Amino acid sequence: MVKNELIVIPLLGLKSDAKIFNFNLDSLFFKKFNPLEFSNPQIQTHIFITLNNHCYRLKISLEGQLEIPCDRCCKSMSIQILEEFNQMFKQVSNPKDMNDTEKDPEIMYLGFNDTNLFLDNIIYEFILMSIPNQKLCANYNLKCDSKMVKILKQLAPKPVKVQFPLEEKFKHIKII
Ligand SMILES: [Zn+2]
Repeated sequence: MVKNELIVIPLLGLKSDAKIFNFNLDSLFFKKFNPLEFSNPQIQTHIFITLNNHCYRLKISLEGQLEIPCDRCCKSMSIQILEEFNQMFKQVSNPKDMNDTEKDPEIMYLGFNDTNLFLDNIIYEFILMSIPNQKLCANYNLKCDSKMVKILKQLAPKPVKVQFPLEEKFKHIKII
C-alpha cells in the first residue's frame, strides 16, 4: 500500500535492541498539512525505538527551527524547537476498538499484520505542541516593529462605549 507518508518505520525485522531512525523535515513534509502560520521549517527528528513483547516504545526528539510571525507586530522570527516525546504502539488483535477507547494519548494500537508505523500526523502534532503559545519578539531578545504595532492598533476594532441615556438625566438624584 502506497501512502503519502514521509515518516515511515518498517516493523519487519525490528528486534528488541534499540534502533534509531532519522528524518529531516522541511517544507516538503509540512506541505500536506498546509500550516498557515509558519515558514522555512528545518526540523531534525530522531526516533529511538525498542520492541518488547509486541510493544514498540518510541522516544521522539525534535531539534531545529522554523519561522513564525510575532503575535504583536507580525514580524517573522525564527524560533528554536527542542523537545522530546514518548509514544507507545501495542500490537493487539482489535486495534481499531482499542484506539477508539484508549484515553492515554501516549498509547496507540496496531494490528499483528501491520508492517509499518506511519508517523506523519503524530510528528506534526508534536511539532505544533513544541511551538510556544505566546510568540513575541521580546521572548527572543528582539524588538517589535513599532510601525507595524501602530498600524495594527489603528486597524483593531475600537471598544464600544455603552450608553445609558437615563443615567445623565437622573444623575442629580441621590439614592438614600
Ligand atoms: Zn513583534
